[in-house]
Amino acid sequence: MSNNPFETSQAALHTAARIAGINPDAVRYLEQPKRIFQFTIPMKMDNGELKFFEAYRVHYNDALGQVKNGLRFVPDLDLDIVKALGLWMTVKHAVAGIPAGGGKGGVKVDPKTLSEGEYERLCRAYIRKLPMKGAWVDVPGADIGTSGKTMAWMLDELEEIKQYHQPAAINDKPVATNGTQLSMEATGTGVFFVTREAVKDLGIAPDAKIVVQGFGNVGRTAALLYQEAGFKVVGVGDIKNAIYNENGIDIPALVEHVAKTGYVEGFPGTKSLSNAELLELPCDILVPAAVQSVLNEGNADKIQAKLVMEAANGPTTPEAEEILAKRGIAIVPDVLTNCGSAIVCSFERTQGLTDDYWDVDKVRNKLEERIVSAYRATKASAEKYDTSMRNGAWINALKKIADSMTARGWI
Ligand code: NAD
Repeated sequence: MSNNPFETSQAALHTAARIAGINPDAVRYLEQPKRIFQFTIPMKMDNGELKFFEAYRVHYNDALGQVKNGLRFVPDLDLDIVKALGLWMTVKHAVAGIPAGGGKGGVKVDPKTLSEGEYERLCRAYIRKLPMKGAWVDVPGADIGTSGKTMAWMLDELEEIKQYHQPAAINDKPVATNGTQLSMEATGTGVFFVTREAVKDLGIAPDAKIVVQGFGNVGRTAALLYQEAGFKVVGVGDIKNAIYNENGIDIPALVEHVAKTGYVEGFPGTKSLSNAELLELPCDILVPAAVQSVLNEGNADKIQAKLVMEAANGPTTPEAEEILAKRGIAIVPDVLTNCGSAIVCSFERTQGLTDDYWDVDKVRNKLEERIVSAYRATKASAEKYDTSMRNGAWINALKKIADSMTARGWI
């Protein structure tokens, strides 16, 4: 299997399309982005030096609506990554029943090398130079290297350009700039709702043992909700190492410990172990919520969980997926498990368009309704085609996209 992310995303597309007999012309549209913008941002640094930054924005496909989400400011950004993420975003929106297409973009830069002023100027310059933008064409959101703060700068710049308020044109902005409640917790909350459904289906006990790799935005939120719901979180890991207590870890106390020390290591009453050991712990549910490819040929035959919830993007390699499937271990795929943020971003745009801002309970209830229904539809599709949940999710997405293309006369 290739390490090229665009080829990996194309392989998923072709597998699902073949299983469900999707119109080959719809697949041809999805073999390439609709639009690619690649531009250079010249910027005077604080010391007077002139630097040039490579910038991208891909409108992968907009059959279902305006493109939305994901600006990544990272040093290793390239067009293949942006294209792959654009297709994944297109599929994620369709899986979640969101009337939007997929967009992705960003700047090749390590934000840690910028001063605060340089970071702000780069964000404002990106939005100024972005050729097509606005609530009905392209709504950028945050990703790695961007945050509420950067999205607020971009919103402000966009409103200066347009000379009117446009809260629906930028996602992941703070509540103070007409953002949405639950923005930061959306993905972890969605992971929890989907886990609860899968547990019911698989007959796993409601006090099951859970291991979570990654204690950031997603892993921390999900772990807090797991404990609140009566599950036992027995193992937690981060970039440094991992901790284990077979009787359960007190997650709110761990959150305080990490806030003070930066890492999970040294949390009282737990045993220290490596990330590799964490993944192979005896447990019912394994939640990789950190980085890609952590479940691979090297460890797939040692995983003891009954269920893997893919909270991270791409945590299971195709080789590992095959091994886990043969061993009867269920996988709920990333495009479904972690689509909570895509759903809440869609709510954020709706709130901006109507100028009616919802309380946190309304956002959470609507997220639950939407993600549970996406889970049910994915499961039904996987059963109908006698295939994996991953293929089931892609099949549902491709059908919706192909139906829109047919109705529009594209195919
Ligand atoms: P984050 O940066 O807030 O936290 C990442 C966590 O993973 C940290 O605890 C970090 O220490 C740990 N980590 C990093 N590298 C690791 C490694 N090599 N081994 C073990 N642990 C490691 O990130 P996040 O927002 O929580 O995102 C986690 C994953 O979820 C990523 O794969 C991301 O792409 C995916 N995701 C996030 C969102 C979102 O809304 N934040 C949405 C969809 C998907």
